[in-house]
Amino acid sequence: MIALPVRVRLTAWYAAILAGTFAAAGAGVWWTIRESIYRTVDQDLRSRLLALRRYLEMEVSENGGLRIEELAEPAAFLPAGTDYRIADPHGRWLVQSPASRKWAPPAAGASSLPALGKIETIEAGGQSIRLLSAPVPIGTAQLGLPLDAFEKMLRRFTWTGLLASPLLLLLASAGGYWMSRRALEPVDRIIRTAEQIEARNLSGRLPLRGSGDELDRLSGTLNSMFARLDEAFRRITQFTADASHELRTPVAIIRTTAELARTKPRREAEYAQALDRILNESERATRMLDDLMLLARADARSMDIAREPLDLAEVVRDVCSNADVLAQAAGIRLEKGPFAECAIEGDEHALRRLLLILLDNAVKYTPRGGHVTVSLRRRDSAVEVRIRDTGIGIPEEHLPHIYERFYRVSKDRSRATGGTGLGLSIARCIAEQHGGEISLTSTPGVGSEFCVRLPLG
Ligand code: ADP
Repeated sequence: MIALPVRVRLTAWYAAILAGTFAAAGAGVWWTIRESIYRTVDQDLRSRLLALRRYLEMEVSENGGLRIEELAEPAAFLPAGTDYRIADPHGRWLVQSPASRKWAPPAAGASSLPALGKIETIEAGGQSIRLLSAPVPIGTAQLGLPLDAFEKMLRRFTWTGLLASPLLLLLASAGGYWMSRRALEPVDRIIRTAEQIEARNLSGRLPLRGSGDELDRLSGTLNSMFARLDEAFRRITQFTADASHELRTPVAIIRTTAELARTKPRREAEYAQALDRILNESERATRMLDDLMLLARADARSMDIAREPLDLAEVVRDVCSNADVLAQAAGIRLEKGPFAECAIEGDEHALRRLLLILLDNAVKYTPRGGHVTVSLRRRDSAVEVRIRDTGIGIPEEHLPHIYERFYRVSKDRSRATGGTGLGLSIARCIAEQHGGEISLTSTPGVGSEFCVRLPLG
């Protein structure tokens, strides 16, 4: 089926509704005019009947009888132009105006006619007549008024309506089409501009007219969608560039180590050293690939997080004893607070990883002689693990970016300490998967404190 443009469909609907309204309004007006004509004519007939009755009653009661010749003078008892006829109780016509000879006799006898009379429309001599049949003191009377003039007017009204309606409909539809075109013009503009905004050019935005109407709101919504897409696209591009750059380094080291080892025959110890180096770098590359895979799965929302009841205090205690080894090697004191039991639901392996990333960082970025404090406490319906160090701290301008992938405050230092810049991204990702969050306060030269907040089970 061919999809018609919205403006054509709108106009068609508009024209159909208008045609329906015209037809209903026309029929309503026609019916009202006709009814009011009948009502006026009927009232007129009744008042004429009243005059006739009054005359007949007076003649019969005061003068003791009525002569037929008197009835032939209608000016005495009827307004001019009234067609009439009067019959005696046996149905014999006593008097008849010329036009009334063509009328049909009353269907019922005088006795069965209602006192106010019976009014009907009849056809006589090619004319429509409104006819009143009613009982009168000397028998039955019929009074009639021709409807021709009224019917002519009604016909003229009908024809005018029938001829003018299509013309009006055409004009109104043309107006409707013009209006819908005008109303939809901004939509066309939005479509044209949106078509020009593509993956390479996501920085383009739709112009806002500032009217605050639906179309302006639509443009605003599309603009914020473009902004989000732009940001996501920029992050993906940056991430791909960073990932390939980071992976190039271990691969390059592996390759040059192998090439160097093969340039000339070497001693066994030299080969072992080269192989150790290759092993180290491939482990580093594997770790990085695992981390990237984990983040990619989290992005695709297909990261498997177990939800099993566990005691977080036990997990923290366990991770601390692992970190103790690192801390001792780095000449740092690790202070562990008393850990009260904290039942939560989560993935023990993932939580261990999260805490180890933070503890590893605390030890990595704290100079020899410093200390790292780990505490655990309940707060409201959550549990907080705080890891505080007396390390180098993080300058304020880096704080908003610290959880970004591959972000490091100082590249040189991190390569020396072996960091990839993925640790905090993974830590935050794990916290969020558990319905929690990580916050950070840090003062350069004084130290940092990371706080992991997780909901209680
Ligand atoms: P990395 O593998 O480089 O440690 P992370 O994502 O874990 O990557 O951390 C990102 C950066 O944040 C680090 O390179 C470091 O500059 C900074 N950082 C993280 N933890 C600390 C800390 N406890 N003290 C000071 N700087 C930190």
